[in-house]
This record gives sequence, C-alpha cells and structure tokens, in this order.
Amino acid sequence: MKRIGVFVCHCGTNIAETIDVKKVVNELSNYPWVVYSDDYVYMCSDPGQKLIIESIKKHKLESIVVACCSPTLHETTFRQTVKIAGLNPYQCEIANIREQCSWVHTEKNEATLKAIKIVKSIVEKVLRNESLQPIKVPITKRALVIGGGISGIQAALDIANGGYEVILVEKSPSIGGHMIQLSETFPTLDCSQCILTPKMVEVSKHPNVKLMTYCEIQEVTGYVGNFKVKILKKPRYVDPDKCTLCDECTKVCPIVVPNEFDLGLTGRRAIYIPFPQAIPPSYLIDPEACPGFLPIACGKCADVCEANAIDFDMKPEIIEKEVGAIVIATGFDLYEKKNLTEYSAEKHPDILNSLQFERLLSASGPTLGKILRPSDHKEPKEIVFIQCAGSRDPELHNAYCSKICCMYTAKHAMLYKHHVPDGKAYIFYIDVRSAGKGYEEFVQRAVEEDGVVYLRGKVSKVFQENGKLKVWGVDTLTGKNVEIDADMVVLAMAIRPSKGAEELAKKLKITTDRDGFFSEIHPKLRPVETVTSGIFIAGVAQAPKDIPESVSQAGGAASKVLALFSSKELYHHPIIAEVNDELCSGCKLCISLCPYEARKFDEKKRIVRVEEILCEGCGACIAACPSGVTQQRNFTDQQIYSMIKTLLEENDKNQVSS
Ligand SMILES: Cc1cc2nc3c(=O)[nH]c(=O)nc-3n(C[C@H](O)[C@H](O)[C@H](O)COP(=O)(O)OP(=O)(O)OC[C@H]3O[C@@H](n4cnc5c(N)ncnc54)[C@H](O)[C@@H]3O)c2cc1C
Repeated sequence: MKRIGVFVCHCGTNIAETIDVKKVVNELSNYPWVVYSDDYVYMCSDPGQKLIIESIKKHKLESIVVACCSPTLHETTFRQTVKIAGLNPYQCEIANIREQCSWVHTEKNEATLKAIKIVKSIVEKVLRNESLQPIKVPITKRALVIGGGISGIQAALDIANGGYEVILVEKSPSIGGHMIQLSETFPTLDCSQCILTPKMVEVSKHPNVKLMTYCEIQEVTGYVGNFKVKILKKPRYVDPDKCTLCDECTKVCPIVVPNEFDLGLTGRRAIYIPFPQAIPPSYLIDPEACPGFLPIACGKCADVCEANAIDFDMKPEIIEKEVGAIVIATGFDLYEKKNLTEYSAEKHPDILNSLQFERLLSASGPTLGKILRPSDHKEPKEIVFIQCAGSRDPELHNAYCSKICCMYTAKHAMLYKHHVPDGKAYIFYIDVRSAGKGYEEFVQRAVEEDGVVYLRGKVSKVFQENGKLKVWGVDTLTGKNVEIDADMVVLAMAIRPSKGAEELAKKLKITTDRDGFFSEIHPKLRPVETVTSGIFIAGVAQAPKDIPESVSQAGGAASKVLALFSSKELYHHPIIAEVNDELCSGCKLCISLCPYEARKFDEKKRIVRVEEILCEGCGACIAACPSGVTQQRNFTDQQIYSMIKTLLEENDKNQVSS
C-alpha cells in the first residue's frame, strides 16, 4: 500500500479561524496509509512548499494530499512541488477545506469534523491515483488576431516582431478601429491619426503579418496549438492591387448613402474609400447601395476606371488557415441613440453621440475641425455634454460604468472651448472618474484653464423649443433644477461589446460576461486568458478601456502567445475519459453529449473512441455511458465509491460519538 502524506494549510486565518487545523492533522495522522501529516500557515509559500518537498524525501511519501483552498488556485502549484521532490504530479490531490468548508461555516467544531471528512475522502482517492503522463501535442506557430483596431494592431505587431506569422482579420474594409475616428487623445491631446497611421502602415507592411480586411471568421475548430479557421473573404469588387486611388469612380457614381466613418454626418458614394488613410488603400463597392451587378444596372464606375480595377464578378471566398493561438480584439460599438428616448436622441440632428462630436473636432472630419451644428452649420455658443448616457443606469440601460467617458467628455469640452473661446460648455455628471496617469490634472485643466462648467446631476429630459435644445437637469450640489437653452447636446454614450461578439464567442467556444464582453478566466491573475486555452483577449473586447490600457493588454496577450510558441510542443492534461474497448457497445450516446467533439465512432470496431487531445475531462460521457465502460482517469468509479464510503462511515462515527 502507498505511503501518504497530508499537509494542512491555515491560509492565514482563512481556514484556521474556523477549522481546528491541529485536530485535522492529529486525526489524519491516525488514518490508514497516512505516514506523515503536518500543518503550516501558508502552505503555498516557499517555506510551505519546502516543508512538502523535504517531508516527501524524508518519509518516502508516494502520494500527498494538501488540504487548502480550491484546486483552481493552487493545484498546479502543488503538483509542481511534488514533481520537484521526484513524485509524479498526479500523485498530489487537493482537499478543498476553504471554499467548501471554512468559508461556508461558522461553527468551529462542526467545520473541523467536516474538514476531517473531506481530507480523509481525498486520501482514499489519491491512494488509487495512477501516475499519469501529460499528452504531447504538436503546435502550429502562427497566430490569428481578430479585430484591426489599436489593440489588434498592437498584438499583431508584438507577435510578428517576436518572429512568428500573424493573420490579422478585420471585418470592415480598413484597419484602424475607433481610434482612427478620434481627433485628439487625452491626456496629452496628441493627434490620434498621427500616432495610429504609422502603426497601420507598419502592420500592413510587416513581412510576418498577413492582413485580411473585409473578412469574417466563419468557423473555428480544434484546440490550443492546432486551431483550424475558416475565414469568409467578402468581395470588394475592386482589386486593391490595381486601384490607383484616382477617385474618378466616385465622381460618376450616382448613389449617395450615409458615410459610416463620419457616423452619418456626411454621405459617401456606393463606390468609396472608407477614409483617405485607409489600409489597404483601395476603393470598394457597397453591394447594398450599388444599383446592381447582375445584370449590371449602372456600371459608370467601371467605364471610367482606367486601371481596370473594378470586377463585378468577384465572389465571396472561404479561406482555411491553421493557427496555434488566437487573440480577440474586436473592440466596441456605441450604445445606439434610439435607446435614449428620454433625450430625444434620434430626433434632432444637433444631438450628437460622442463619436460624431469627435468627427466634428477632427481636422479631417466633415467640417474640417470647425464646430458647426449639423442642422444649420452655425457655431454653437452653448453646448451641453451629458455623461453616463446609457451607463450606470441599471433600471433603463446598462448597469456598468463605461469608464472612458469622463475623460473624453473633459477632452470634448476642452477642445470645444479651444475652438469657440466665447462659447459655454456644461457637463452633467454623476461622478468624475479620472483615475490614470495625468488624468485628474487633465480634468482640472478643463475646469480651471478652459472654464468648463461641471454640474453634478442627471439630465431628465432634452427637447426642442424655439429653435433651442432645452436641457432639464438638476444640480445635486445646490439642490436646484437647471434649465439650459443649448445649441448642441453631446451624449457620452455607453460602450457596448461590438456587434456579433456573442456569435463569435460561440464559434470560439468561449464565454462572455453578463454585459456581452468577452470573459477572462481569472479577473486578477489571468486577465488576458479565456476559458479555452490558446485563446486570449485584448482591448475593449474584454471591457471598456482607453488606448493606453488597450495597448498594454494587447502586449500582455501577445506575450502569452509568444510564451506558448516558445515551447517545442504543448502538453494536454491527462485526466480525460477512456473507453474499455472490449465492453463498449457502440451505442453512441456519448458522441452527442460531448461538448468538445472528442468522441468519434470507430466504424471498423463498432465502438466509440476518445480523441485524447480534444477531451477536456468534463465527465459528461462518463455519467451518460449506460454500460459504465467509460471511466475518467484518476476519477474511476472505484475511487468515487471509496470516497463516498469514507464520508458515510465518518458520518456514522460522528453520530455515535455525539
Ligand atoms: C468618443 C470616444 C473618444 C475617445 N477618446 C479617447 C482618448 O482621447 N484617449 C484614449 O486613450 N481613448 C479614447 N477613447 C477610447 C478608444 O477609442 C479605445 O480605447 C480604443 O479604440 C480601443 O481599441 P480596440 O482595438 O480595443 O477596439 P476598436 O477601436 O473598437 O477596434 C476593434 C476593431 O475590431 C473590428 N471587429 C469587430 N468585430 C470583429 C469581428 N467579428 N471580426 C473581425 N473584426 C472585428 C472592428 O471593426 C474594429 O476595427 C475614446 C472612445 C470614444 C468612444
């Protein structure tokens, strides 16, 4: 029989306050097969791990149980520890006496008895544990980055500079994301385009980067190191390699539709370039707006195109790629104006959302940087900025804080005052959240140097009266109602996950949070990893954040990819399902239940096999197998029966003694 060691952690006072740790140690020291037991205040610390290593060597332990916190936190830590001592890592098991005991009980005696039961049952399990070996998996050292905003560009550049190939997939016709629409950026007020366009060029020319714009992810299969991706390439109907950007085509195109880049403040033709600095630098035809190609209804653009770049016969293509890691950087969309009926947001052209205002401020925008009202092109002399438009409003809109709006609204008001020094800028706010390097100073500058008026309170209503936009609000600091006759209103709309994020999450088999942003696996310790290994997140795709934070997170995600690619091969954990070939009846029930598509029917032998690399060891097939021929490694029926038997025996013992 095995020689087992038990190590009980105090977890500071997390465990020791509710559980009599010494009693657990004493009880376990008398349990069969346990030849050594001990406790320590922080078992996961260096001295705690040393205690385990030395005890394994001194007492010739063959398996150990660490009674501590959840295995999700420190199972890997302690498996590494026993490996250093020369044991197989799978001879270490965790008895969770924190989350499953000390944190959920207050009565010390009862909690101690329960902890003893938990630890004994885990001793029964580890007694029967096999020494498993991780499964080796080959790795494709090529990354896929989804989303070509600043986060995706940065992640792609960092991976490419690390020496690996990157496929950067962007759904719109150009990379750049929202940052390319911005005017100047807080807190330094440097020009957004001046910082971003060199990066856009760099990524497009990088020898390790394959840029795929106007493309969408259709299907993702496989697993870490070996993903297979189907990418839909939408037809541009203009060949970027031939297009000379002469602009003759737009001059003859008879169709005008709202320009997405200027958020409808200007129009564009059916054949268009998204913006002058677009990458790739090429025109494309919007098939929804064009009068039609089959048969060609207009064709004027093709007639004037001397480069013969227009090809009405282009078809959508499916391109298949193999990659080892994926970074999601799909960013955000603004909460739609139509949701804010209380502010008549959709009804009046002079009620703008924050990105529309950015376009007005931009030197390359519809008014060439002049602040003019869309309705009559007059300079607004009184302007009201409303923060938290759709954020921090759990009853009507989104409960969360969109985080960046306090800062960009301060920027908007400040830039407005730079453009219209005799104008008045009011900001309605709930709180001003300006945590960040130089951020508080930036807001102070807006108030002190530029005379922006901050009004603490919410706006109840915005409506039109006598050619003005009436803003009814309250100043909670003076307790007075406020009424402003504004020429323009700017709404700091909530930041929402980009359209299609939920669908993409399903394709990637990862999770989103309750607001629809992609979820990280651990908010503190693994903020760029997702539940599926090999898939990482960066930028606003995870939660609202500004440019510096997006760039840092993109670097974090890229470094995770580089770390993954630095290994020769990957290792898949071996605690997976296995089938007894002799007894499997081939009923196939397990195939439909497996969420990882790890079950395959062997036509020749008429049995079901486990694809080891795909199996995540969730146990669904084991519970469902009607003949019990599927077992989970180190979670066999025999192990589970012996654990339950121990718990029942301990219950009986405790009842007799009480
Ligand atoms: C009005 C306003 C002003 C701002 N001002 C500042 C400022 O002054 N300073 C500052 O630091 N920050 C500012 N920000 C924040 C800044 O815009 C963001 O931090 C930054 O854009 C985040 O970049 P991202 O790449 O994560 O997302 P995005 O910029 O949204 O880029 C995401 C990209 O992914 C693409 N995409 C989406 N879904 C898919 C898909 N399924 N497949 C392929 N591609 C996809 C999108 O088309 C887009 O190109 C401002 C934000 C707003 C709204």
